[in-house]
Amino acid sequence: QLSRAGSESFVTLGEKEIRDTEKGTVVKRNLEVAIDNDLVEAFLQPIVEAKTHKIVGAEALARIRDSEGKLIPPGLFIPIAERNGSINQLGEQVLDRVCKFIAENDLEKLGLNWINVNLSPIQFMRQDLNQRLTSIISRRGINPAYLHLEVTEESMIDDSLLLKQIKSIQESGFYFVLDDYGSGYSNLARLRRCPFINVKIDMSLVWEYVKCPDEMLPNMVSTFKNLGFSITAEGIENEEMAKMMADIGCDYLQGYYFDKALTMDEFIAKYS
Ligand code: C2E
Ligand code: MG
Ligand code: MG
Ligand code: MG
Repeated sequence: QLSRAGSESFVTLGEKEIRDTEKGTVVKRNLEVAIDNDLVEAFLQPIVEAKTHKIVGAEALARIRDSEGKLIPPGLFIPIAERNGSINQLGEQVLDRVCKFIAENDLEKLGLNWINVNLSPIQFMRQDLNQRLTSIISRRGINPAYLHLEVTEESMIDDSLLLKQIKSIQESGFYFVLDDYGSGYSNLARLRRCPFINVKIDMSLVWEYVKCPDEMLPNMVSTFKNLGFSITAEGIENEEMAKMMADIGCDYLQGYYFDKALTMDEFIAKYS
């Protein structure tokens, strides 16, 4: 059973620690200001092809700022937004920023075939999510095929309804990616029935494998590939990690070794 907004299930330890502190209150206020004034930003982090390290896509990552303009990391504000429901507007503002970026830039020139956008499990509680997403992209005149929507496994807990929603959104032309695979509850049998085009292996599995290689991750990657999913490895911080993940068959890589999340202007300046 997927929990409702307002329940404790999506509250991370980090947020629990700061929730009732002064810092938590300040972040909550910064979040309100950003959302009410349409100021949520989308930073872009490159995703590269594992064999060539050529850029092929990017992931949009939400950022807000404090009153002095300093960036606040999503680890602090996403749990708050999920708890008070403002993640709906936040997620839609990120999608809108990405659509605007696609409308105003030559993606091909930037090497981008697609841009990934994160969807929170909370957003699926809205039965009209498909219409909401579709109306944002049509307002900007964007083809949904440029958008790869990242969902985490926790989104998949409430099987049947959710799968129906994913399928209807997919029928509107969006693609789906499974995010953070291996970071929590995993059910391969269920994933088989989901229309993902790509599975992102969570950083924690990547790091474990690099520290202490065994057959688990290579087997997982080949199983996914046999099921028809392409694979992205997250959290690649050095050349050795990039090579090891390419060697076990990952198709795409993402991590600080290639680049961190950049502002859209920085991204254009660097990758044009
Ligand atoms: P995620 O979707 O798994 O995004 C990847 C996170 O890993 C990003 O953190 C990224 O900056 C970080 N990362 C990338 N490469 C490396 C690396 O080589 N090493 C390390 N240590 N970290 C790396 P970020 O931007 O802080 O976002 C954290 C999480 O917040 C995201 O994890 C995602 O779950 C959530 N998030 C961010 N933006 C959104 C959004 O627009 N909507 C929703 N629902 N969640 C978001
Ligand atoms: Mg993601
Ligand atoms: Mg991820
Ligand atoms: Mg992750």
